[in-house]
Amino acid sequence: MEKNNAEKSDDALRDDAALVRQLQSIFKNISSEIPLFLFTEKGKDDVFCQVIREAVRAFRSLTDKIRFREYTLDHDSAKQWNVDSAPTLLIDPERYRIRWLGAPMGEEGRTFLETLILVGMGKSHLSEQSLKMVHRIEEERRIKVFVSATCPYCPQQAVNAVKAAIERPDRIFLEIIDIQVRPGLADAYDAHSVPMAFANDVLIGHGAQTEEVFISSLEKLEPQTLFIPEIDAAFVETDLVIVGGGPAGLTAGIYADRSGLKSVVIERGALGGQVATTPVVENYPGFTQVGGKTLVDILVSHALQYVRIFPGEEVLDIQPGTPIQVNTSRRRFSARAVLLATGAVHKKLGVPGEERLSGRGVSYCSTCDGPLFKGKAAVMVGGGNSAVTEALHLHHMGVSVTLVHRRDTLRAQEFLAGQLKENRIPILWNTEIQEILGNRRVEAVRLINNKTKKTQNFPVNGVFIAIGYTPAVELAKKIGVALTRDGYIRRDERHRTNIPGIYSAGDVEGGYKQIVTAAGQGAEAAMAIFEDLINPYWQRQDRRTGSQ
Ligand SMILES: Cc1cc2nc3c(=O)[nH]c(=O)nc-3n(C[C@H](O)[C@H](O)[C@H](O)COP(=O)(O)OP(=O)(O)OC[C@H]3O[C@@H](n4cnc5c(N)ncnc54)[C@H](O)[C@@H]3O)c2cc1C
Repeated sequence: MEKNNAEKSDDALRDDAALVRQLQSIFKNISSEIPLFLFTEKGKDDVFCQVIREAVRAFRSLTDKIRFREYTLDHDSAKQWNVDSAPTLLIDPERYRIRWLGAPMGEEGRTFLETLILVGMGKSHLSEQSLKMVHRIEEERRIKVFVSATCPYCPQQAVNAVKAAIERPDRIFLEIIDIQVRPGLADAYDAHSVPMAFANDVLIGHGAQTEEVFISSLEKLEPQTLFIPEIDAAFVETDLVIVGGGPAGLTAGIYADRSGLKSVVIERGALGGQVATTPVVENYPGFTQVGGKTLVDILVSHALQYVRIFPGEEVLDIQPGTPIQVNTSRRRFSARAVLLATGAVHKKLGVPGEERLSGRGVSYCSTCDGPLFKGKAAVMVGGGNSAVTEALHLHHMGVSVTLVHRRDTLRAQEFLAGQLKENRIPILWNTEIQEILGNRRVEAVRLINNKTKKTQNFPVNGVFIAIGYTPAVELAKKIGVALTRDGYIRRDERHRTNIPGIYSAGDVEGGYKQIVTAAGQGAEAAMAIFEDLINPYWQRQDRRTGSQ
């Protein structure tokens, strides 16, 4: 049956009374005084000042620990605490450097309540991981968190900052700024969509962040999107060690863990591998267009649901056996299998303009960037199978492509070379690129004929470079993994190398070098490893050959 209005207001009163009792019991555990100093200026923002007074009065009815003082801006205390604008509320300024430039209205009431409790308890209640990061901060951080009374996400971000300020009063100065009370300051920081957090005037967070992501952004002074828990253990025992945190390694981690194998991914550089340096990806299924960094964040967050990731750690040495020992720059791992997903890097020409115009007309991947040059002119540099295949690929996409090759014959298969002729793709023989020219984008290349020494400026919009890859096989070589003629890891159809328990996936195996193929190979390898670990193939072979 519907409740009438009188019954509804009785319910509300009962709820209020329960809330008051709950708050009283929380405040009972508070040991320290909570000094609050409000600075006001007559006739300025009186409404907001009144809200602060009333909020303080309401909380004082719950606890006798709050000590409240009000001063005008010309009082000596304003000078003592460097307060030059009103209203400003200082929260326990003898112990902490937290000030509120606004009034705890609406959603901000939650922030105010949590701040009073944390200050009263004198504890930040930061997580273990956050504590590690916040205590690594050596230089001062001046934080500004812009909030508004109507923003339900603001309290989370403001409380993150309050916790940091309580934990490190020696290094952290915090201002919580209400954009309605301080519109001028909000304008100066372009803070029109809250919450927005700055540290030392650098934007470190837009939107509410989890505590660890906020503290990590504060430590690094740049916005972080992910937090990867730090692991202190000097020794880690696991089923599978995956070397390389590119698409192959991360996908393998997801598949291995879902099969029931405890796995770790170890990455020495940027998580995401080559994708981390790719501005835009347009051929990964499910995304018509996605930033490389965004795709990495998605991949890493997904992988983190399953697998432990050890970033900034290099695998230095692998000792095959049962178990396999893996030594990194930080610790030792013991595992039943190791997956080498160490990737490859494309070779560079090493000419002026190449680095500067990379991603601005200079590309190492025609499959990835070719469509951007449809109807435009480009050169393809190289003379092997990759260069010729990619030149044909560009031609079929509608790019006016010219092959530039430093010799007088191609290294590519005859069939491919014939296709060049058939499609009337011009070739500049004995020609090398001396410089890539252009201001903001590629505009031309300076070419030299290495026989006649004649130079020319050749106008183009794109420079595609396919002069080979260098696979990351140092580790593989160290332990005697067999390589192909081109220097990639030699493996069977189940991604097994010649060393029992050592597998490979991704670009390090050669073949097509794409995100989707690397991810596919990572998935295949993980499933093969799972099947081999429950029924080891090397034991099956041993039984067949009768060896020990
Ligand atoms: C500029 C650029 C643009 C590209 N654009 C596209 C695109 O649009 N679409 C597409 O499909 N593909 C693209 N690619 C190719 C694609 O990025 C690769 O094919 C893919 O990243 C290969 O994945 P992987 O995991 O095999 O290797 P990688 O991505 O190379 O990752 C291997 C990882 O292993 C790590 N590692 C190596 N040795 C060790 C060690 N000893 N200890 C710890 N870590 C180690 C490396 O640091 C690296 O992060 C592009 C590549 C580049 C360079």
